[in-house]
Amino acid sequence: MTDAGDGNFYGTVYNLIKEEVRGQQAYAADAPYCRIRLDANENSFTITPEIHNEFIDAIRKVALNRYPEPGSSLLRGRFAEAFGIDRDMLMIGNGSDELIQILCASLASSTTLIPVPTFVMYGITSLNNGHRVLEAPLDDEFDLDIDAMLEQMDASSPALIFLCYPNNPTGNCFSREKMETLLKKATGLVVVDEAYGYFSGKSFLSLLGKYENLVILRTLSKIGLAAMRIGFLLGPSPLVQELNKVRLPYNVNSISQVAAGFYLDHEEIFLDQAGEIIRERDQLFTALQRIKGIRPYRSDANFIFFSCLFDTNRVYRSVLDEGILIKNFNAAGKLKNYMRVTVGKPEENKVFLEALERTIAKLGA
Ligand code: PMP
Repeated sequence: MTDAGDGNFYGTVYNLIKEEVRGQQAYAADAPYCRIRLDANENSFTITPEIHNEFIDAIRKVALNRYPEPGSSLLRGRFAEAFGIDRDMLMIGNGSDELIQILCASLASSTTLIPVPTFVMYGITSLNNGHRVLEAPLDDEFDLDIDAMLEQMDASSPALIFLCYPNNPTGNCFSREKMETLLKKATGLVVVDEAYGYFSGKSFLSLLGKYENLVILRTLSKIGLAAMRIGFLLGPSPLVQELNKVRLPYNVNSISQVAAGFYLDHEEIFLDQAGEIIRERDQLFTALQRIKGIRPYRSDANFIFFSCLFDTNRVYRSVLDEGILIKNFNAAGKLKNYMRVTVGKPEENKVFLEALERTIAKLGA
């Protein structure tokens, strides 16, 4: 097995890989050339050159020869205060993706329950860490089917339930009452992922002390710092203490730690941008409603989920030919005929809408 030229080499290595991993396709983040990216739910607004220079000045002070602050301890104190929680209840991660990974890696093999459709990494990361994944389809309004969730819960006592609030890709917040029912009845952890919470104004943060199985995820990726990979896990301190044993020592690099502090120093700028995105979202929704064959769904997030009467592969391609990238699910089942567009800057939304209208006129002809 030392010789890459050995005909059996690939087969032997392949057999070393977990079956759950072998059975998957790698997560494909689209990256074709385009002038307008509206596929990944980032914040399309940027900061002024003056503020950006402040960030660069702060980075200059980073000692490149030194490891980052272990456990992001200074930052942890600052964000714990901002969230209004004890610092022992907070963990900072290399994006919230890493925190999902740490959660899944820490728990003994069990079952993960997810409503579908939802953020795909819950299922992928669970499988990769040896958990079985159970799915309960959302109802026709994209709300939780509480009976289906409870049934699955009773049958398999999942160690993890992921609830994305607002949900990616559908954009809505699930009924709070149903979520609290799950929190009360679950014997495992209920992870409420508030990645898009800046755009919904809704949160489970105030319930952190009330339910000891409640874990909240947040991220700075959707509010304007996607490049910096900074996520937060908020939960009971005994849990965070255990998860810390699985977290790699220097998981958040020094520049990202500076960026997270910079975010707190300038939070109003980012929150103002979120306000603008919310206003743009409502205009984009109304404009989409007017396009024949397109049905947008109300969103609490920074993107809009819509169904399309036409072949979404052709719609995707035609819009991309005009330099605009959106998300095409094109999956069997509930996601067939659905697409998702991130709310961009006003001029980007306008260009997208014009391209979509031209596309629909062409396909409908
Ligand atoms: N949760 C949800 C619901 C998301 O949509 C995403 C990003 N697409 C993430 C978590 C991951 O975010 P991060 O960039 O913090 O890893």
